Amino acid sequence: MRASSATLTRESQVTRESGCFQDIPITVNGRIRTGRLPWLAAFIENLFVSHRDRLVWLHAVFFVFFLALIFLPLVLPEPPEDATPLSNFTTFSIYVMWGLWFPLVFLSVIFTGRSWCGILCPMGAASEWANKKGLKRPIPAWVRWEGTPIVSFLIITILGQTVGVRDHPEAIAEVFGGTLLAAILLGFVYGRNKRAWCRHMCPIGLLLGVFSRIGAWQFAPKRKRAGGDQYTEKTVCPTMIDIPRKEESRHCIECFRCVNPRARGGLFLRLRTPGEEIEQIRCHNPNPYEVWFLFLGTGVALGGFLWLVLPFYWELRETVAEWFFGHGWFWVGESGPGWLMSVHPERREVFAWLDFITITGFMIACMLVFAAALGFTTWAAAWLSGKHAGDRNLRDRFVELGYQYTPVAMVSLVIGLGATLFESLRAVGLDTSDIAWVKTGLFVTGLAWSIWLGNRILALQGVPANHRWLPLVPGLAGSLFVGAAWWPGIFGV
Ligand code: SF4
Ligand code: SF4
Repeated sequence: MRASSATLTRESQVTRESGCFQDIPITVNGRIRTGRLPWLAAFIENLFVSHRDRLVWLHAVFFVFFLALIFLPLVLPEPPEDATPLSNFTTFSIYVMWGLWFPLVFLSVIFTGRSWCGILCPMGAASEWANKKGLKRPIPAWVRWEGTPIVSFLIITILGQTVGVRDHPEAIAEVFGGTLLAAILLGFVYGRNKRAWCRHMCPIGLLLGVFSRIGAWQFAPKRKRAGGDQYTEKTVCPTMIDIPRKEESRHCIECFRCVNPRARGGLFLRLRTPGEEIEQIRCHNPNPYEVWFLFLGTGVALGGFLWLVLPFYWELRETVAEWFFGHGWFWVGESGPGWLMSVHPERREVFAWLDFITITGFMIACMLVFAAALGFTTWAAAWLSGKHAGDRNLRDRFVELGYQYTPVAMVSLVIGLGATLFESLRAVGLDTSDIAWVKTGLFVTGLAWSIWLGNRILALQGVPANHRWLPLVPGLAGSLFVGAAWWPGIFGV
């Protein structure tokens, strides 16, 4: 398996007319390939394609493990105060969900895109299995609406906080079990050999989809057809991608189903420089819904973290309580249903309606402030780009520049919500200050990467190098704002 000696240089790959990179083709095993390390891509492709039939066993194992993680703690005794993941299954389950699964899946997209979805996720596999047995009805418009996964993400994220999904096994069972049930039901009713859930409704899928655009794995058509990305149910692809027209990564769950190394058509695995798709986002179907989701979704996740650590939240709660009680609305001091809020007297945590209202309100307020701030900095960058020879209209420039925040948003999310994983680094001898340095290193990398992507997007918009600093300033301000907002999570209050 040897590649020809063609040299890849980044600038030589850019065609000025389209602003997109044009790969230099290389021959591997008698087949034309493009991208970085083509011999490695060919090897990975062969490995997965030859073992594709066995993926079903991997899905089955993960499915059983997933069920055990979310339901077994419900029938086990309460863990003792000094329980560790190694001594108690309930503590182990919470550790696996939040200490390993959450941060590692998000970090993995940088290297392998949505490989979690296609290769390991038991929820998507269960949805597809149900689909094979199900009613196969046409996917309705309300499911196909682009805002559906945004709504789904917001509901699950807020509910997760009010029921205490990071602390209570009952809440894990409700949120993850409920999501699994919804995935199976949707799969059972809608689509024909498809994963309507994964494409349209999964609360995690859209987030992984946005972040997968910075990933090093991409599936590209061998024979590309013009016309840009299209949605079609007449395709082998479980997420309704029109294979020959595929341009963007976000909906590809990397199932390898469209890949056949011996065929002339279909897709091939193309390795690329991380961030390349965002750098030239104009050639990869940029989407305003996705950009607003990036702003809103990371904003609400931030709110879900900040209410736990900011003293300001507790002051706000007190003010709201006084206002309610002052108006004679004493019912806010009573506890509500356990499926809507945390009611665990045995663990000394009982939320009242007041908590439900203030947590929800705080998260929504954080989301709106975050989205407004990033919306403003992106608008300012797009406007300044237009003033300095940036091409296309303001809306298009806005959408393109909105993607520059992807790395800093992703890294902040992983550091802020992946505290358990970072604490585990103590096991390999790191102390508090070492862990802070690891987090700082990751954060600065995400920040620098976002600024660099902003610069590249502006370059492809045609803004000359000597004027680029001006529209870069709002981009830098936006990235610093993301970092400042997550500061309590990264470095403490
Ligand atoms: S989109 Fe959601 S349900 Fe589907 S495979 Fe990915 S994480 Fe799993
Ligand atoms: S494009 Fe190919 S690899 Fe990606 S989800 Fe569709 S069939 Fe699977």
